[in-house]
Amino acid sequence: MRLSCYYFIVKLPLVMLAVPAIPGLETGPRSISAVRVLRISITDRCNFRCVYCMPEEGTRWLPKENLLTFEEIVDVARAAIEIHGIRRFKITGGEPTVRRGLVELVARLRRIPGIEDLSLTTNGLLLESLARPLKEAGLDRVTVSIDSLQPDRFLRITRTGDLRTVLRGLDRAEDAGLYPLKINCVTMRGINDDDLPDFARLTFGRRITVRFIEYMPLGDAALLDAPRNSIDPSERGPAGGCGAQDRGADSLLSEADARTRIEENLGPLLPVDRDTEAGVGPANVYRLALGNPVGRIGFISAMSAPFCATCNRLRLTAEGVLRSCLFEGGEVDVRSILRSAHLGSKQTALANAMAECVRLKPEVHSRHGNQQMSRIGG
Ligand code: SAM
Repeated sequence: MRLSCYYFIVKLPLVMLAVPAIPGLETGPRSISAVRVLRISITDRCNFRCVYCMPEEGTRWLPKENLLTFEEIVDVARAAIEIHGIRRFKITGGEPTVRRGLVELVARLRRIPGIEDLSLTTNGLLLESLARPLKEAGLDRVTVSIDSLQPDRFLRITRTGDLRTVLRGLDRAEDAGLYPLKINCVTMRGINDDDLPDFARLTFGRRITVRFIEYMPLGDAALLDAPRNSIDPSERGPAGGCGAQDRGADSLLSEADARTRIEENLGPLLPVDRDTEAGVGPANVYRLALGNPVGRIGFISAMSAPFCATCNRLRLTAEGVLRSCLFEGGEVDVRSILRSAHLGSKQTALANAMAECVRLKPEVHSRHGNQQMSRIGG
């Protein structure tokens, strides 16, 4: 379901005057007041072709004119802060570092009063030269996605990536003070499960949080995992299944199994109190009992233990669609608002669009998604 411009500028204000709030609809994660984080995708393009995310070739990119401009992104962020009090923003993609002017965008967002946490998620390939300028422009922290610490395997998973360059980027991010530094690793059975102890070992010497993310069937992979006919053909992701996508649900390595892999090698994991850790997001956080690790180990278990009841995020795609959930299609088009509303009514229309989008969140997601992550902004 996608709501558009006419609804927010003309219809919704009238409806809101006439109808009292419907009890139950505006509580819990479906209330805009629960939203703490806006994830902003700035491109659908990427310089990697991870086997679980994109086909090797043949992806149809969004036309440039469909991408939100930096001015439009800042308008959305401003409405989120000023009207809804959202103070945490994550820049994502595709691969955000491939969009020209990223440093400038960070500086513009930083200048909006009220942002408490401005972060970036990246595959790290271009981070070596960008880490310091991004920090100087006002970025607070960075998450680097790395799925293997073995160069050959890393290349096989990313199809184009060079692990050494990415690790140098991680070092430069640490030098630049982009803290807390996180690594995201998608766990895939039979593909990188034996890498997990090596990732966990990083926490002995580095103040890094390594987060293991359960592989989610999104885009074409969803077709294999979903009950027959449960995805409308018009909602399917871009064509071209690949690698882990072809494996469907077999690729899932649950949090429980991932923890076992680590504990068999490095001894017990001790739970860490979420309230004492900054920026843990939806992760369950642990530390190794062995030695005196300075880093943390997190698990994001959207498949084996969905956390929809505490979901506090909203997503903005690169083409200006607000998306209520990574899996489900509840969407609101804000590009049409940005490009047609008068200056005076724009902020209110954007703010209403956000509130309406949050109401479209599912109670619990359906375990399959109609769009690949690079399209939505992971
Ligand atoms: N390119 C940036 C990066 O690598 O962090 C940002 C976008 S990327 C889509 C965000 C994260 O989503 C990455 O950590 C990636 O590994 C993860 N991801 C993509 N597809 C996924 C899937 N099907 N299941 C789980 N994680 C996925």
